[in-house]
Amino acid sequence: MGRRWQMMISERRRRRWWQSAAGLLLLLSVILANLGLAGTVLAFLPPSEQPGGNYTYFVQRSREKRARGKREQAAAKETARELRRQNWQRFIRRQGNSGAWQVSSWNTITGTPHRVSRITPPSFGEGVWRRLFGSEDELIDYATRFVEENKDLFRLGESEIQLVRVAEQSGIFYIDFQQVYQNIPVYGSRIWFQFDDSYRLLSFGADSYPGIEELETRPLIDKIKARQIVSEHLGTSSPAESDGESQSELVILPARFEDDLEYFLVWMLDMPGGIWRYFVDARSGQIISRLRRSRAGISGTIRGKVLPQFYNDSPAEVGLPDLYVYLMNKNEPIFQALFEDSNTPPADWKAQGLWGYGQPTPPADLSGLMASGHGGPLDPDRGHTGQKVFGYNLAGDYTNLMRPTYLTTPPISFTPSSGSKPILRFWRWLGVYKEYSEDDSGNRTSFDRASVEISANRGITWDTVWSNATSQIEDPFYLEGSSGWNLQIFDVSPFINDSSQEIRLRWGMGPTDSSGIFSGWNIDDIDILESLINPNDTVRGNFKTDASGNFQFPATWPGKNVFPNKLVIAAKLAGKYVEVYNEDSWDAVWVVENINDPNFQDPNYTYFIWDPENPNNAIAPADPDSLSVYFRISSYNELNVYYHINRMLRYIKEIDSKYDGMWRGGKKGPIKAVVKWGDYYTNAFWTPENRIYFGEGDGKVDGYRDFSLFADIIYHEYTHAITESFYSFFLPPADPGLATTSTDTTTQQPQLTTELDAMHEAFSDYWAAALTHDPANGIDGAKIGDGGFWIGHDYVRNINTDEDRPLKYPDDYGDDAYANSLILSQAMWDVRKKLAAEGREKIADIIFHKARYAGSTSFCDYLQAVLDQESRLYHDPNTAIMIKDQFGKHGISRIPLAPTNPVATVSDRAVHLTWEAPPDEDIVGYHVYYRTENDIETSREDPSVQKDAGNTTSFTITGLTNETTYVLKVKSYNKYGTESESSDYVYATPYDPKTRSGIVYQENDSSLGTCFISAIRMR
Ligand SMILES: [Zn+2]
Repeated sequence: MGRRWQMMISERRRRRWWQSAAGLLLLLSVILANLGLAGTVLAFLPPSEQPGGNYTYFVQRSREKRARGKREQAAAKETARELRRQNWQRFIRRQGNSGAWQVSSWNTITGTPHRVSRITPPSFGEGVWRRLFGSEDELIDYATRFVEENKDLFRLGESEIQLVRVAEQSGIFYIDFQQVYQNIPVYGSRIWFQFDDSYRLLSFGADSYPGIEELETRPLIDKIKARQIVSEHLGTSSPAESDGESQSELVILPARFEDDLEYFLVWMLDMPGGIWRYFVDARSGQIISRLRRSRAGISGTIRGKVLPQFYNDSPAEVGLPDLYVYLMNKNEPIFQALFEDSNTPPADWKAQGLWGYGQPTPPADLSGLMASGHGGPLDPDRGHTGQKVFGYNLAGDYTNLMRPTYLTTPPISFTPSSGSKPILRFWRWLGVYKEYSEDDSGNRTSFDRASVEISANRGITWDTVWSNATSQIEDPFYLEGSSGWNLQIFDVSPFINDSSQEIRLRWGMGPTDSSGIFSGWNIDDIDILESLINPNDTVRGNFKTDASGNFQFPATWPGKNVFPNKLVIAAKLAGKYVEVYNEDSWDAVWVVENINDPNFQDPNYTYFIWDPENPNNAIAPADPDSLSVYFRISSYNELNVYYHINRMLRYIKEIDSKYDGMWRGGKKGPIKAVVKWGDYYTNAFWTPENRIYFGEGDGKVDGYRDFSLFADIIYHEYTHAITESFYSFFLPPADPGLATTSTDTTTQQPQLTTELDAMHEAFSDYWAAALTHDPANGIDGAKIGDGGFWIGHDYVRNINTDEDRPLKYPDDYGDDAYANSLILSQAMWDVRKKLAAEGREKIADIIFHKARYAGSTSFCDYLQAVLDQESRLYHDPNTAIMIKDQFGKHGISRIPLAPTNPVATVSDRAVHLTWEAPPDEDIVGYHVYYRTENDIETSREDPSVQKDAGNTTSFTITGLTNETTYVLKVKSYNKYGTESESSDYVYATPYDPKTRSGIVYQENDSSLGTCFISAIRMR
């Protein structure tokens, strides 16, 4: 890839003082143990700007140089400085402008100018760097010539330069070369140039190495041998050359010993795992040096497999962003209870009811159990580790109609620390039955319950850390091949405040209902560990994965001595913005235990993928003193929801830097998403507690597949949360817009459907479509609930407009919020498609998103908010007109101003009406309405006969009945047919002038409603 550029430097070979040790480099084959090096570790050149301290040397400098006396060294230094000065003066003379350049810093080891910059900014057409037009190739040519013309300054000797990079960023062109000698790259060499956008040279520099000519460049060992040498050194088997992970290259390694340089012909080997780079002498086979390439500390990557759009897509591997990763100190647990050592219960635990300590003894004869209503799994016959556990009824099930019955820990003294947070872990084996009872409204009122609770005030009040909510729990049945024991991890810091001195935990069994009994709680291996918090994160002090799922812990903590230690890394699907729970199975967990190396980088453990096809559950620690790994995932549902919600959120944050992704209505915090909710439940919904529930579907024809296996369903539901974060300020809606009444399908109660309800659904469908729209791959995002979601149907809703008959407001507005929503969502989608045709669909997303800040509660107001955003952000009249036209096509437009001062005059069987035009340039005509006064007496409805007056301010109605009183009014309308409110009423009685004079009067009536209500009642 890329061009390679070479040139010869035809400098006559010169002998220099540092080549006096001609011939062999006498390598003392002293391979020093890593730790034993402390006194003799030497700095390593090149890259002078790289952080030091990562290189380890295994050789000493050659005997001749070591033998040189201090005086000799001082003389050499003086010679080098003089040489540098002379080279620079020659350069300045050649440039012919001694004031233009200055050396910002010298490389004192190589004697080359590390950085040269201009004293004054380049002026137009100045000097050799004058270049107004041209190509990158000309820049490269120029830089190459520049090196050749100043070869003494760069001290390249017989070396060549080779282009390694051409880049442009923010109007600066970067050109980089490396030094090569006999086609072998010189490790760490760099000759660089920066040009401005007029191609004028701004700065340059060189870390190039003189005097390589003495080096023998023919290798005596091959790279396979070199790899074997390294593998033996690492104590690993030699990885195959074809494994694609290890790279090797022959390079010239400049090694710096104090102020001296020595060169080695080496095999540079990047070993698998990306941690170690070794340098092996290609002639002697000696390991010269090694470099730890990763930055110090523990880093890793968390990825997962998700379904890109539909339930039957091939899974794609993605990084999981914004996921909290806990780094815990296992040496000094805040609390630990392993239930292994004693035949008597641990002291000071309080066990109510049938809570007991010991080895569980599930009944061997099931017949009695079944008769008593038992279901689900039995108790285990031993602990997670060891024999003993704490459990509810170690010999069988819990009972029906129990009150909550608790197992409570002793007080756990707790010192809040700004440098850590407490993470509760325990292993459970739990069976809880559920059978829903429903009240008249269909709410679930009864099911068996298990909980974990915490108190930070001596047991006066308790917070729920976890409960089974409405789900049935059958731990041993969830994952085939598992031990049945299920690791739980909870960050309990939200339940603790700065004044907490001690905490208590309790496990609750019950309340239970009267139907069915399961085995209940078994608990083992409890601990609370200190999770180190990020000293650089000012928000919550957590470590999070980046956009690609990478995380990194530093090797040192200010004021803390945490290494070496037994450390634990853990994560579950809980992040800054989203936490995901599976109602039907175990939650995803990943734990690596017993790390005692601050630079722990084993890719087998720190790069891991949650893959439902390979759950790899229950890799239990066989030896608690050695590294152990435990991770599991049960289904794509959790990963899908985590990934797609974060994907959407990242897009929203990208287009709106002010949006923080936090629900504003209640307590700020991540949204909780529950997958596989209910029994064959066929819906998904968002609740104001900031939870989203995804039903598992019923899988029947005309029914639905699992809701969380479809990206657009996830986007739709999450958009409700985002929309509501803008609307939670406005409860109840200040203006219900066009409100209609319908019947709630669940409760059979009448419910008010407002325009805001329809807007909510329209926004959700728009964003679901926008985030799945992929025309290049033939994916029509406009269909919501497609791809097999609604079994036997193509889709649930389609926000593409039927151009033959666009849905229109208010004609097509009814009592179903979903049907109503299509009027708005189709208008929005029409706008997006128009902009997408010009590659500008992001503009639609930006203005539609930001218009939500206005908190509009009607289609019409929302359009105005959209136009306001367009005007403020882009101010493009054509876009504004296009938006008006697309919304207008669906009957959504600004209400024109009403005409004023209607005056009627009468004549024989006719009324002549005049009015004043309001100052509104959107008005294209007027409608005159009239009916007889009799109708008015029975109804306050508007006059029923409509006449189009056109764009004029007078109209004559003929063919009326004399001596009958008519009531008349006028409305203006715009080009989309949207009408204004009515003018004042006018009454008129036509007559035969031969008989008598007419009656005309006006009524100022302000009680006739506003905006849409009156407009609607017309029809
Ligand atoms: Zn919805």
